[in-house]
Amino acid sequence: MQYFPPALEKLVEQFARLPGIGRKTAQRLAFFVLSLPEEDAAAFADAIVGAKAAIHCCPVCQNFSEGDGLCPVCQDPKRDTSVICVVADPKDVVAMERSREYPGLYHVLHGVISPMNHVGPDDIRVKELVDRVAKGDVREVIMATNPDTEGEATAMYLSRLLRPFSVKVTRL
Ligand code: ZN
Repeated sequence: MQYFPPALEKLVEQFARLPGIGRKTAQRLAFFVLSLPEEDAAAFADAIVGAKAAIHCCPVCQNFSEGDGLCPVCQDPKRDTSVICVVADPKDVVAMERSREYPGLYHVLHGVISPMNHVGPDDIRVKELVDRVAKGDVREVIMATNPDTEGEATAMYLSRLLRPFSVKVTRL
C-alpha cells in the first residue's frame, strides 16, 4: 500500500470512482492534474462544477439539456411528436442524430433494467415514458435499447407496460 499526502490521496480516490478507472490509472490521472499549470487545473475543476450546475434533464425526453427548458430536439417544430424513440443513454441520441434522418422525438431512460446491478424500473426514467404515452398524442414507440440481454429485457418490459395504451410498439 502506497501513501500519498492526504490532498493527493483524495484526488486519486475521486479519479478511482470514475467508471473503468482502476487505482493505477487514477494515480496517473492525479499526477497529470498536479503537473498542470494552475489555471488549467482550475479550468478542469470549473468544467465539472459548471456542467453539474448548468445541465439538467429535458422535462419531456429526459435527455441532457442546458438550463431548465426543453432540449433542442423537443424544441424543434419540424419534429414528429407522435413518434418516440426509446434509448438507454444520452450518447445514443447523439449516435441516432448522426447516423440517420430520424424525424421523431426521443426518450432517454438513463440506464437499462439490470437485476444483476440492482437497477430496477424505478431507478430509470420509465414512469416519465408511461406518462408521455398516457397523454395520448403518441402513435408509435420505437425501442432502441441495445440488442444485449439487458437491453432486450428492458425493451420487453416497456412493451408490456405500454400494451394498455393504443400505441404501436416496434423494436429497432
Ligand atoms: Zn427533450
